[in-house]
Amino acid sequence: MSDKNSVTKATLSNESEESLERSVRPTNFSEVIGREKEKKSLNIMIESARKRKKSLDHILFNGPPGLGKTTLAFVVAKEMGVPFHVTSGSAIEKAGDLAAILTSLEPYSILFIDEIHRLKRTIEEILYPSMEDKVLDIVIGKGPNARTLRIDLPEFTIVGATTKLSMLSAPLRDRFGMNFRLDFYSDEELSTLIKQAASMLDILIEDDASFEIAKRSRMTARIAIRMLKRVRDLAIVNNSNMITKKLVNETLDMLDVDEHGLDDQDRNILKSLIVRFDGHPVGLNTLAASVSEEAETIKSVYEPFLLKKGFIKRTSRGRLPTSKAINFYSPLFN
Ligand code: ADP
Repeated sequence: MSDKNSVTKATLSNESEESLERSVRPTNFSEVIGREKEKKSLNIMIESARKRKKSLDHILFNGPPGLGKTTLAFVVAKEMGVPFHVTSGSAIEKAGDLAAILTSLEPYSILFIDEIHRLKRTIEEILYPSMEDKVLDIVIGKGPNARTLRIDLPEFTIVGATTKLSMLSAPLRDRFGMNFRLDFYSDEELSTLIKQAASMLDILIEDDASFEIAKRSRMTARIAIRMLKRVRDLAIVNNSNMITKKLVNETLDMLDVDEHGLDDQDRNILKSLIVRFDGHPVGLNTLAASVSEEAETIKSVYEPFLLKKGFIKRTSRGRLPTSKAINFYSPLFN
């Protein structure tokens, strides 16, 4: 899960980001904010699997980082009452790695494979029969003496997560019984999510403060939670036990997050499109080079947010700034 580091610039506390995320991670559907369509479908799948006394069908979650893919996978395992194991596409390097994981799964377990598009094709090919028929075919030996050993696997479920659906091979995509696209959160959903996280962390927060964090969190749960933590830090430093809108504004200004939730790099991208390239279409690699960022990061982190906000357009000739971006930001760039 790639992350933006601009929101982690101010490090006022020692609490690790990961432990913070864990402490506010929902453990059941009622704590999962929004995602009503997904929760409804997942509940039906869970109920059906229970009644059939079978493992849950394989599930794929796709969408930008920080939108709840891992959370939903974890909650599904909790709701099913089954063991939850986590790995990632890049961690499974050899056939033996996959075989070791699959053969050690308890019956009905959920195996969460993060960034599943990073699985090598050779590994994917071993995964197909495992997902379909719950068998593992291992080739032993080489050349004419090679033979295949078939191992029966217990009932299990793969929950895959990907930020790059287009990089997943079609045969792998087809093995999932359900494919959920997770979209950005609305400001209202994020505001509710922030209030819930604040209460889990024992922090008091005013309504307009949670809404202000929501508005400036790139429509992304992970960023909202991190911002909450930054504001909490400042509240502690100021000996205050209440998060107010004033404190939120102070913290986010310090982090250079503007009123639309754009950070330095977002603004660099817009500045490049508006000023340097004078509103002409720009290819991804040229744009990436002009803001010293990896093309992949632009594509999976910055661009989806700027598109959603209506600040850029993607055309066959390249990326363009919208009139909304030009009207608001060009006076600031001059
Ligand atoms: P992803 O796997 O898509 O990168 P995560 O599931 O790790 O994102 O979510 C990041 C953080 O946001 C987690 O700490 C989780 O607690 C929180 N979060 C995400 N979606 C929700 C939600 N719908 N309700 C409550 N918390 C959420």
